[in-house]
Amino acid sequence: MTATPLTAWRLILLCCSLLLVAATTQADERPQPGMVAAAHPLATAAGVEVLEAGGAAIDAAIAIQAVLTLVEPQSSGIGGGAFLLYYDNATDEVQAYDGRETAPSAVETDHFLTEDGTPMDFLDAVPGGQSVGVPGTLRMLELAHEEHGRLPWKTLFQPAIRLAETGFEVTPRLAEMLRIDLPLDAFEPMAGYFFPDGEPVSAGMTLTNPALAETLTEIANHGADAFYEGPIADAIVATVQAHGGELTREDMADYRAVERAPVCRSIAGESVCGMPLPSSGGMTVLQILRLMEIASAETEDMTRLAWAHLLLEASRLGFADRNEYLGDTDFVDVPVATLLSEPYLTERAALISPTQSMGKAAPGLNDPDSAMSEAKRINHSTSHFSVLDTHGNAVSMTSSIEMPFGSRLMVDGFLLNNQLTDFRFDPRAANGRLHPNRVQPGKRPLSSMSPVIALDADNQPRLIIGSPGGTRIIGYVAQRVADVLMQDSGVEAAIEAGNMVNRNGRTEIEADTDAEALVPGLEALGHEIEVDSMTSGLHGIEHLPNGVIRGAADPRREGTVGRARPSSRAE
Ligand code: GLU
Repeated sequence: MTATPLTAWRLILLCCSLLLVAATTQADERPQPGMVAAAHPLATAAGVEVLEAGGAAIDAAIAIQAVLTLVEPQSSGIGGGAFLLYYDNATDEVQAYDGRETAPSAVETDHFLTEDGTPMDFLDAVPGGQSVGVPGTLRMLELAHEEHGRLPWKTLFQPAIRLAETGFEVTPRLAEMLRIDLPLDAFEPMAGYFFPDGEPVSAGMTLTNPALAETLTEIANHGADAFYEGPIADAIVATVQAHGGELTREDMADYRAVERAPVCRSIAGESVCGMPLPSSGGMTVLQILRLMEIASAETEDMTRLAWAHLLLEASRLGFADRNEYLGDTDFVDVPVATLLSEPYLTERAALISPTQSMGKAAPGLNDPDSAMSEAKRINHSTSHFSVLDTHGNAVSMTSSIEMPFGSRLMVDGFLLNNQLTDFRFDPRAANGRLHPNRVQPGKRPLSSMSPVIALDADNQPRLIIGSPGGTRIIGYVAQRVADVLMQDSGVEAAIEAGNMVNRNGRTEIEADTDAEALVPGLEALGHEIEVDSMTSGLHGIEHLPNGVIRGAADPRREGTVGRARPSSRAE
């Protein structure tokens, strides 16, 4: 059969379009280099190992978290909670997974009040069972793995099990944390593990954790159920109850990780996505960024001082709202849409003057009483890691047991969180109404963890970033997203730049950094300044429009960046 000219053209066109489709599909799916930025070299290495075996970003996240439980026990682990953003390259969508701890069903709203009705001293509330929430990290990882995992769950715990059996080297930071935190009680078996002869383990020592190896083996073989039901759950419940807590077997068995819609907003032409409530991180970072964008719209050639002033003033406004209105939306009403709406933010941005600090900002919606005081403490725990896999998927995950070493309660080789102390101790706000972040049974305490994924105009991940740092997390992250997306800074330079935070009080400037040079100028603009060390732990990955992938680990902690070769098994 001979083709007529018309049919021949049709065939050529068909071939061309098939080739085009094939090329596009191949371009999307062609393995690219992967990257991990995490808080410990062994965690980074575990993530890279998984990526090079063809694993998805969620597979790497599980391996990283398992290793962090062992080697950075002061910060995060399976005894705590976490928030995870997932970018799925197949759908171009960002999904938000909530693994935040929940309050046991038996807690009362006066949980953190003393007998005379006044709030407990914060450090009295931390050690022991009353601060422990139902851990959420493992259920959350399991949920995200069911939806996005490529490698079997079981294999992902092997690097951590190996290390727990053969030992890992104690880092200077872990040794230092143990030394600093000596004044806080350590219960058995935590005391025996970290203080073998009454002295803290020192940097360079090799530590094994056979109990954790056993726990992780159970979880690897039987899934997260091995943790939430059965002997491990029993041991958690018994330990918490023996130390004054109210956690029950039902609380453990009933725990659910939740998939929520992320909060996203267009900033500098990119779609910036963060965690929704119960983390205040996403909303407050987005408020700060949009306020900065509106307030700087008319200004060209912004000096670093003017930029810093803008960031700090926007941050005052963001924190004023955060402290007044935010809480777990499964329990309390929060006007999320209004707080992120353009008319509202335009009105709020008008309060920013380029020539004078506004001082303490009032929350924007109605009454002027700010209910929560400026955060009470410096926090050195929590961990953030960022992953870009060889298939183009990404994870931004912040994970925490709250204070360093959490509640000080160790069970089966891991530490239990003290996350319930993130609730507001006094259930009433200054104006007498009940505060949205008061303790309630089953509720999740308000968090500041701010994992971020920003997508470019083609819906590809442009920036994956987050940090530990208590309520300062919001400031650390907003500053870097603003620097990378709005000031064209590279992620490494942005992370290295000195920290500048305002939580609606004094302006905090990081000592011994370039930010100190801004102090006289900021004082002249009316800022009351506090210069101090500020130990962020930012771990970010940047995907440049020209295809270059680069990552950065915060020099203030012990993290590293690892690059994964595209694997032949990845296709
Ligand atoms: N528990 C804190 C939160 O969820 C994080 C603590 C920290 O970053 O050290 O906001």
